[in-house]
Amino acid sequence: MTQKECAENGEWTEAMEYVRKHERIENSVLLGYLAAGSVIVLHNKDHDNFVGIGKGLSTKVNASIGTSTTHIDLNEEVRKACTAELSGADTLMELSVGGDLDIIRRSVLKNTSLPVGTVPLYQAFKEAIDKYNNPVKMPEELIFETIEKQCADGISFMAIHSGLNLISLERLKKQSYRYAGLVSKGGAYLIAWMIENNRENPLYERFEDLLKILKKYDTVLSLGNGLRAGATADSFDRAYMQELIINCELSEIARDHGVQVIVEGPGHIPIDEIEANVRIQKKMSGEAPFYVLGPLVTDIAAGYDHISSAIGGALSSSFGADFLCYVTPSEHLGLPSEDDVAVGVKAAKIAAHVGDMIKLKRNEADLNISKARRDLDWEKQFRYAIDPHFAEKIFRSKNEGTSGACSMCGEFCAPLKVRKYFKYEIAKGKKS
Ligand code: SF4
Repeated sequence: MTQKECAENGEWTEAMEYVRKHERIENSVLLGYLAAGSVIVLHNKDHDNFVGIGKGLSTKVNASIGTSTTHIDLNEEVRKACTAELSGADTLMELSVGGDLDIIRRSVLKNTSLPVGTVPLYQAFKEAIDKYNNPVKMPEELIFETIEKQCADGISFMAIHSGLNLISLERLKKQSYRYAGLVSKGGAYLIAWMIENNRENPLYERFEDLLKILKKYDTVLSLGNGLRAGATADSFDRAYMQELIINCELSEIARDHGVQVIVEGPGHIPIDEIEANVRIQKKMSGEAPFYVLGPLVTDIAAGYDHISSAIGGALSSSFGADFLCYVTPSEHLGLPSEDDVAVGVKAAKIAAHVGDMIKLKRNEADLNISKARRDLDWEKQFRYAIDPHFAEKIFRSKNEGTSGACSMCGEFCAPLKVRKYFKYEIAKGKKS
């Protein structure tokens, strides 16, 4: 049985216990959310690690890694997986498109305790290119075989573009203009396949076959948006909305079959459209967990897109998005390095925390670090920092032997002077 079906039957599982222990949520509330599909649980079966995503839970961060067709280094991808985990990512997506995809996926799975996701269409299209030198020659059955193979390997969640059907495609054709065209790799190949073969998307047409496979392994379906905008000017266009509507319909069908399901969003989106995007997805999907890719709030931050996406991620999370896909400084420029992965995860973790401060009213760490700053307690400041080691490293490199003021203001340190004359009280009259 899937976690959703267990919850529907009132059965308390090891996965639920794990999530409850790591989050602040009561058993009955978690059970209710899982049964309703507003929370899902991912499982890394090899390492028996669980991650809950959705209503009432902290915002989670995904780090994507994977080879390209021009840069293939298995060991480097494994190291990136380890770096992502050490940096605090909650999940990993293995998105390789170059090299032996089975070997890469299985090596990454062996070396991380994070739940791992994939886009199985990548492998199906790559195998069609290898075999027929043409992705549109991909046999339909290969998609389903690839999905089952990856599920059997222990993949926890899959981004699948079932909502990109002939209706969505029609919307795109009628619209006929877009600044950034199409930016989803899986989406672009799928559209080519549908047009060349004059066929409906098999992942839509045979949605129930897909659900049967996912249900067998309790693999979470992440309904990808193949028409998502790649430019802020293209956001919320009719093609994206059409696919989102269909994905929301499909999420209902998936839940009715007991399958755990997430709906994916943008992409690129201006800051003033983020709230509407989250609220529309939540309402149309019946509160399915919402997975946003960034989102990037400007198109000009090349080299700094992790910052652009952290702004979008923080706002999305504050309005109710549940799952943020990180963006690295190499976005739009090249394959991320190990360092890029670490920086991208940190940026997204900050975004998730900023969102949770509003969404879940969680600001204990902020209060604690603020008090430590007031008291010039450096050890405590490091402890509550998002990256204690990095914060301490900067401090030690610039303040030899000091335990009081730092080199920023020296003798002009305000807390140092003021505490001599003034005793602070904590807000609401509580002393610390
Ligand atoms: S010296 Fe300035 S920056 Fe450093 S602790 Fe004091 S007030 Fe803060």
